[in-house]
Amino acid sequence: MTNQPVKIICTVCGSEDVTADASAKWCVENQCYELTDTCDTYHCEDCDGECKAKEVPVSFKWTVEFEVDEIWVADGFDLDDDRAINMLNMDLTLAMRDSEIKAKVLKAPDKATIRRVQGYKDDQPQEPV
Ligand SMILES: [Zn+2]
Repeated sequence: MTNQPVKIICTVCGSEDVTADASAKWCVENQCYELTDTCDTYHCEDCDGECKAKEVPVSFKWTVEFEVDEIWVADGFDLDDDRAINMLNMDLTLAMRDSEIKAKVLKAPDKATIRRVQGYKDDQPQEPV
């Protein structure tokens, strides 16, 4: 066994929303049940049924903050999940995009502000001013 953290996933759909049947014993000192054993019976919430489960290594995660000068936003730059994964994929060119890398924009400038800087009017959603 390694120290690498693992997660339990459904072998059918890959969901992490998996529960295991288990036995528990009351602990007087901690005033709660503590697991004594887990069974090999799993339930996947996404498949909505019994499933097989397996341990896989937890992926590594970075939280990044980008700052971009207004001139580039005015020139059309905006960052969404798709563009972020494209940026990551340009560096990790051999990575499998659907399974080995993920990117998600967690916080972004207000879309209305970006559109204003880019010269759009609210009543003309497709055409620059
Ligand atoms: Zn499943």
